[in-house]
Amino acid sequence: MTVDKRKGRYIAGELFDWEIHRKNMADAKGDLALIGLAVMGQNLILNMNDHGYTVVAFNRTVSKVDDFLANEAKGTKVIGAKSLEDMVSKLKKPRRVMLLVKAGQAVDAFIDKLVPLLEKGDIIIDGGNSEYNDSNRRCRDLASKGLLFVGSGVSGGEDGARYGPSLMPGGAPEAWPHIKSIFQAISAKANNEPCCDWVLEEWNKGELDSFLIEISRDILRYKDEKGEYLLEKIRDTAGQKGTGKWTAISALEYGMPVTLIGEAVFARCLSALQAERIDASKQLQGPPSSKYEGDKKKFIDDIRQVDALNVCLEVHVHALYASKIVSYAQGFMLMREAAKEFKWDLNFGGIALMWRGGCIIRSVFLGNIKQAFDKNPKLSNLLLDDFFKSEIQKCQAQRDYFGAHTYELLSNPGNFIHTNWTGHGGTVSSTTYQA
Ligand code: NAP
Repeated sequence: MTVDKRKGRYIAGELFDWEIHRKNMADAKGDLALIGLAVMGQNLILNMNDHGYTVVAFNRTVSKVDDFLANEAKGTKVIGAKSLEDMVSKLKKPRRVMLLVKAGQAVDAFIDKLVPLLEKGDIIIDGGNSEYNDSNRRCRDLASKGLLFVGSGVSGGEDGARYGPSLMPGGAPEAWPHIKSIFQAISAKANNEPCCDWVLEEWNKGELDSFLIEISRDILRYKDEKGEYLLEKIRDTAGQKGTGKWTAISALEYGMPVTLIGEAVFARCLSALQAERIDASKQLQGPPSSKYEGDKKKFIDDIRQVDALNVCLEVHVHALYASKIVSYAQGFMLMREAAKEFKWDLNFGGIALMWRGGCIIRSVFLGNIKQAFDKNPKLSNLLLDDFFKSEIQKCQAQRDYFGAHTYELLSNPGNFIHTNWTGHGGTVSSTTYQA
């Protein structure tokens, strides 16, 4: 049996014995139940366990509970449940039940089954990437039944869930005192402050940051077991889980030009049309090849020279920096518009601070965004703040790694696999679907 020392978790398991587990955990009561044992759910449970919380684990396919307890969760305080009734009976009151399942119908299906099992004041937390109108509806429906609903974006992918995600809870404010300590304990920390606070509404993530450049570097240099670059062997098609699409739809609804996210979503849609692209490439002549035909060694030597490198880097860094600033400005424009519509009193500075660690957005200038809104809470556009105005004037000029979203090899289309790119990720992956 191999043990990953960094995580202290078991990779290859032994046969799991329910009887021994039942005896060991007979009197234990769970602090929180988590439903959904895919990559996010499993890693969040292990994170909560590390922080001293007892979690009751459940999954639609119940055999995955046994697998989890026998492998990743072996030696932890995690309690397995064989049914929803079993799970609820093992919880302290008020009961806290968190869902980490596929967004949409799966969330409603679980809520419908949970309602008759819960009591007034119990809390249901949806940690998936749910569409905000669905979260609003669930919050209203459950309030009418005396239950507290929290929609909480969990950002940070597999590693974030395991070691500290950015958590963005919103919904019934009465639930916050009951979940605050656990959420703030497990969330990422930036300058010792938890990247988790209450806002009136969750905001899902945009995928921009030098963090993404950092992971692209790792992906580019990753070699498979044959010592060959893996990237070359991956099909150029990507799935989507809906967050980008919903952001673009909201942008159109509110008439806000959230162009960067819109373009990114269209690029994913185009990537999915692989057969059509291949067919077209046989009939339409594309632009002339831009492949460098000169002396490769000399070219690389030139780039190595400090001056040439500086010029290259400056162009790229400035373009990236400008696009990051613009994307944040667009995101805050969309939030401002939605806040007007729903009469939300959004704490824009607080929202920026929640993204400082763990989250895929992670950025050095989130502090500057906070300062901008502290100075002027009614700021109409981030680009009009003195700091961002001067930065933008000066400028003028990846999915499986992060969330275990899987990919297809060119040699084996239709078979979705996950690679542990960093060497410290797990083997559990997210499922593949098109939202
Ligand atoms: P996922 O692949 O999105 O979902 C798999 C889980 O959903 C499994 O537990 C599966 O149960 C359950 N499920 C699927 N369809 C169901 C249905 N019709 N009824 C009941 N259960 C159903 O898992 P994930 O990647 O861990 O993500 C969980 C949530 O977090 C999603 O909303 C996702 O968008 C969000 N999220 C993911 C990431 C990431 O990086 N992966 C990051 C942030 C947020 P079975 O095992 O029985 O199939």
